[in-house]
Amino acid sequence: MVQASVHADIVAAAIAEFGDTFAKPGEGIIALSGIAFGASCAHDGDPFTGTVSIAYEPAEVICGLGGFARAVATLTSIPQLQEQLGQDLVVAINGALGAKGVLVQIDAHHECLSSRVASAKDSRLRTVTFSGSLADDSARLSAMLLLAGGA
Ligand SMILES: [Zn+2]
Repeated sequence: MVQASVHADIVAAAIAEFGDTFAKPGEGIIALSGIAFGASCAHDGDPFTGTVSIAYEPAEVICGLGGFARAVATLTSIPQLQEQLGQDLVVAINGALGAKGVLVQIDAHHECLSSRVASAKDSRLRTVTFSGSLADDSARLSAMLLLAGGA
């Protein structure tokens, strides 16, 4: 299970990027959209580039916003699949913040598809990964509307 331990290591490194946390001031959802990234595809090594948007419902603590961007940079420093990147980020955010709920939306352009299939030249892949309170249908929709209004 070499693959699994590589992922455990990179997720642990991403958790360490969050740094100090602060008591949450009140109830709510925090939504950060449009963190740019570039990664290489774990299937074929081709680049994929796009943006990560994150919403979370804090339990006890919140964090500085730079932690999210640093976690994205750490998790894209190894070959990734977009689907796995979303899950790794959800696990890292939960590990750092113990959030009630987390939602990660990723939109990316994959050269492994766009360079090989003419009709997919301008295609983008969107993945939505979630946990906890934001797995609930109406809460998830609210979080996605918040993210759609940003960036
Ligand atoms: Zn690929």
